[in-house]
Amino acid sequence: MIKKFTFDAIIVGGGGAGLRTSMQLATEGLNVAVISKVFPTRSHTVAAQGGIAAALANISEDKWVWHMYDTIKGSDYLGDQDAIEFMCKNAAEAIYELEHMGMPFDRNDDGRIYQRPFGGMTKNFGETSISRTCSVADRTGHAMLHTLYQKNIELNTQFFIEWVCLDLIRDEYGVVLGVIAIEMQTGDLAIFHAKNTIFATGGAGRIFQASTNAYINTGDGLGMAARAGISLEDMEFWQFHPTGILNVGVLITEGVRGEGGYLVNALGERFMEKYAPKAKDLASRDVVSRAIATEVKEGRGIGPNKDGVFLELSHLGEKLIDERLPGIRETAIKFANVDPVKNSIPVVPTVHYMMGGIPTNMNGQVRDTSNGQVIEGFYAVGECACVSVHGANRLGSNSLLDLIVFGRAAGINVIENSKNKILKTLPDNAGESTIKRLESLEDKRNGEDPRSVGNEIREVMQDHCGVFRFPALLEEGVEMIKELRSKVDNLFISDTSSVFNTARIEALEVINLIEVAEATIISASNRKESRGSHSRSDYPKRNDEEWLKHSIYHPLSKIVTYRPVNLKPLTVESFQLKERVY
Ligand SMILES: Cc1cc2nc3c(=O)[nH]c(=O)nc-3n(C[C@H](O)[C@H](O)[C@H](O)COP(=O)(O)OP(=O)(O)OC[C@H]3O[C@@H](n4cnc5c(N)ncnc54)[C@H](O)[C@@H]3O)c2cc1C
Repeated sequence: MIKKFTFDAIIVGGGGAGLRTSMQLATEGLNVAVISKVFPTRSHTVAAQGGIAAALANISEDKWVWHMYDTIKGSDYLGDQDAIEFMCKNAAEAIYELEHMGMPFDRNDDGRIYQRPFGGMTKNFGETSISRTCSVADRTGHAMLHTLYQKNIELNTQFFIEWVCLDLIRDEYGVVLGVIAIEMQTGDLAIFHAKNTIFATGGAGRIFQASTNAYINTGDGLGMAARAGISLEDMEFWQFHPTGILNVGVLITEGVRGEGGYLVNALGERFMEKYAPKAKDLASRDVVSRAIATEVKEGRGIGPNKDGVFLELSHLGEKLIDERLPGIRETAIKFANVDPVKNSIPVVPTVHYMMGGIPTNMNGQVRDTSNGQVIEGFYAVGECACVSVHGANRLGSNSLLDLIVFGRAAGINVIENSKNKILKTLPDNAGESTIKRLESLEDKRNGEDPRSVGNEIREVMQDHCGVFRFPALLEEGVEMIKELRSKVDNLFISDTSSVFNTARIEALEVINLIEVAEATIISASNRKESRGSHSRSDYPKRNDEEWLKHSIYHPLSKIVTYRPVNLKPLTVESFQLKERVY
C-alpha cells in the first residue's frame, strides 16, 4: 500500500523561494509541508554570493523606478513591466523584513545596510552606476537561507528531507492535487495530497557541461510540469555568468567587479572599454559574456589553450578582499590555485541561470496557456518560475529578490485561496503512470547508462546552444536531443536496491534533464532574432516588430507558440523600447 499524507499546502523545494513561501503559510497557521531532495540549507540558494538588490538609497540617492528601468533594459525589453514594477517597488520592504528576521547584512559606518554596485544597476535611468546590492560579504545566499530556515523551524513547518518528487497529480479537469514522491532512505513511495501545490524546485543549469549550478539543479520541477502537459515559457534564455573559474565552473561573484575588479585579455588590455564604453566591466552579464567569448574567438584568450581571460582584483588590497570577498579568496586558492591578493583569476563564461520556466502570474499561480486561465491548485516560485521579471537577461542580484518578493506574494494568494476551498478527492489512478515508469526502469535487464546519457545531453547543449548560437549547429542539436530522448526512454540501472539508491535517483533526474534540454533547444531554434542572452549569428539584431513576444513551448506537441510582452506597468508610465547600450 502506498503511503498518503494530507496537508493544506505542499511546497516542493527548500531553497529561498520555497522557504519564503512556507514561512508565509506557516505564519497564518496553515498545515504546510516542505519536500526537498536535499537538506534545505544545502539548496542552491546557499551558494548565492554577491547579494540582493533593492533601492534602499543607503549609499546615494536611489528610486525604485530607476531599479525598474534597469531591470526592463537588462531584460532586453522582454520582461513584463507590471511584474517588474511589483518586484522593484516591494524590494525595500522585503529586505527590511529579512533584516528584522535577523539576516546579518554588512553595514555602513552609520549602521545602515551596506550596498555595492552590480552590473546594469544605475541611477537616473542609465546615467551612472549605483550601489544597490545588499550583501553579507560574499555569502549572501548562505545568510538568507539560514535565516529563513530558522524562521520556519520556529513556525513548525514540517520538512520531508531527502524525498524526491517524481510527478504531479492532476484530476480529469486538470486540477493539481499534489505530488507523488520517493523517500531516498527507504525507497518508499508516498502521495502528498493538498489543496495547493507550490513548486520551488530551482534551476536546471546541469543541462549544460560547464555550469556554476549545484549537481542537484536538474530541472525536476520543469520535467514534472512538462510530463503533466504544462507549457514552459522563454526556455531559450539562459544566462552565462562571465566569471566562472576556467575549466572548473565554480562561480566568482560579480561583486568582485562591483568592488572594483576588472577583466583583462592576454595582451593585458581592459577590453570591456571597447564593448561597453560607459558601464565597462559592470555592463549586464550577456554583454560581458559575449565580449569574453569574442576576445577568446579572436585569439586574445589567456592560458595554454587561450580559452579564458583574467579577472584582476589584487589592486583592491588584502584588507578589502578579506572583508568583502573572503569566500572568493578561498575559492580562488582552492579551485584555481591562485591567491587573488597577488594574482589574477582565470575565468570564462559559464552557464548560471535559467530566465525561463513554468509560466506564472504575479501571485505565483501557474498560467494555463491554452485558455488564459490559471491551473487550479498549482503555483510556481523562484528560479523554476517565469513571472516574467528577467525577460531575456537577468540582472545580477535580482534573483534573490525575485524569490523573496514572489514567494511572499504566492504565500498570500495561497492563504486566500485555501479559505473556502474543499480538498478534492484523489483520482483512482493517482500516481499510476509514475509507478509504471519506476517499474519499467527496474525490470529492464539492459539498456542505456543514465550517467553517460546525462553527459551526452550536456555535451550537445554546450556545443550547440551556447553563448553564441549558429543556425546549422542549432538544427543539428535539435535532432541530437531528439535522438537522446529515445536513449532516455531506454535507461537501465543495474542496482535496484531500495535503500539510498542514488543510481535510481540519477536516472530519474536524467528523465527531467531531457525535458528541459529539448524545450530549450527547440525554443532557441525557433526564435529568429538576437535578444538578451539569445545571440544568433544569422539574426544578429533584436527584432521588436516580429519578436517582442514570449515563447511558450508545449511539451506534448513540441510546438512553440507566443504570448505578447506586457509593456504596461501597474502605476507608472510604460518604458519605451530603446536600443540597449551600456
Ligand atoms: C553560484 C551561484 C551564485 C548566485 N549568486 C546570486 C546572487 O548573488 N544574487 C542573486 O540574486 N542570485 C544569485 N544566484 C541565483 C540564485 O541564487 C538562484 O536563482 C536562487 O537561489 C534559486 O532559488 P530557488 O529557491 O528558486 O531554488 P534553489 O535554491 O535551487 O532550491 C531548489 C530546491 O528544490 C528542491 N528540489 C528540486 N527538485 C526536487 C525534487 N524533485 N524533489 C524534491 N525537492 C526538489 C531542492 O532540494 C532545493 O531545496 C546565484 C546562483 C548560483 C548558482
